[in-house]
Amino acid sequence: MLPDSTLSRRRLLRTAAPLVLTARKAAAQTRKLKLFLHWDMDGSNGIFTREQAWYWENGVPEATALGARQLFTDSVNAASQAALKAGATELIVCDTHHGGGNLIREKLITDPRITYLYRSVGLENGKRRWMPGLDQTVDGLLLPGHHAKTFTPGAFLPHTWNFEWADFTINGQSVGEIGIEACYAGHWNIPFLFVQGDEAACLETRIQFPWVVTTAVKRGTTEFCTGLDPQAAHQATAKGIAEAIEGLRAGKMRPYKPKLPMTITLRMRTMDAAAKAAQRPGVLRLDDHTLEARVGSQAEVVKWLLGTGLDMPPA
Ligand SMILES: [Zn+2]
Repeated sequence: MLPDSTLSRRRLLRTAAPLVLTARKAAAQTRKLKLFLHWDMDGSNGIFTREQAWYWENGVPEATALGARQLFTDSVNAASQAALKAGATELIVCDTHHGGGNLIREKLITDPRITYLYRSVGLENGKRRWMPGLDQTVDGLLLPGHHAKTFTPGAFLPHTWNFEWADFTINGQSVGEIGIEACYAGHWNIPFLFVQGDEAACLETRIQFPWVVTTAVKRGTTEFCTGLDPQAAHQATAKGIAEAIEGLRAGKMRPYKPKLPMTITLRMRTMDAAAKAAQRPGVLRLDDHTLEARVGSQAEVVKWLLGTGLDMPPA
C-alpha cells in the first residue's frame, strides 16, 4: 500500500497534466504570429485558362473576368480563414497580380486581424514602396497563387515579371517571381513558409527552397490546365498553411537571404529591351541580351531595374 502523500501527488499530477498541456496550447495560440500573404492569380485554384488569368486582354467576355475574380476572392477568403484558424494573429493580404486590383472588395471577409492591400505598391508613412507593411514585425511570408518562371516546361502561364524577361539570376541561381519576392522579404529576415500554385510552381519552390511547404492545386501546360475543384483546393491549401505554421513554430522555416553584395543578371528576350535597360545607372551589359548589376541589399532585388522596392519616388 502506498503512503497517502504519494497517492495524492500522483492524483495531482494526473489532474494537472492536462491543465499544463492546455495552458501550453493556449500560450502557443495567443503568441503573436503576423503573416504576409502575397497573392498572385495565375497559380490560384480554379484559374484554368489564359482568359481567366489575364482577363483584361482583348476579347475576354465580361462574365469570364468576373467569374475569375470571384474564384480568386473566394480562395483569398478561404486561405485567410485557414491561417487565422491555424494560429495567425494578424494577416496582411496583398493582391499582386498585374499589380493588383483583382479582388472583389465587398466580398472579402472583414476581420480586424486582416489588412488588405489591393495593390502591391502602396503608401507607408507617406512614402511609396513595394509590399507596404512587409518588415521585421512580419513572422512569415506566404506566396499563394504563384506560377513558375519563364520557359518552365509543363507549367501554366510560366513567366517572370513581364514577357521581356527570359531569365533572372541572383548570385548565379535562376529564380522566378517566387524567388524574387522571397529575396525581398529576406531583407528583413522573414522566413519563407508556403507556396500554392500549379505543380510546376511547387516543384520550382521545392528545388530552390526545400523547407517551404507547397500545395499544388492544378496541373497544365502553357495556356490551359486542370485541377482541384474550389472546395478541395481550399481544403488542401488550408492544410498546407497549417503545416507551414507548424513548421515555423518548430523552427524549420528560414528566410531566403542571398549573400551581399548580390550579383543579379537578367537575360532579355530581345536586344532592344536589353539596350534600353542597360541605360539605367549601374547596369552593365554583358552581351546582346544580358544585363548585370550588383546591389547591396536584398530589398533592391528588382529596384536597380524597375524602381520597385523601398523609397519609391511619388507616382
Ligand atoms: Zn506573377
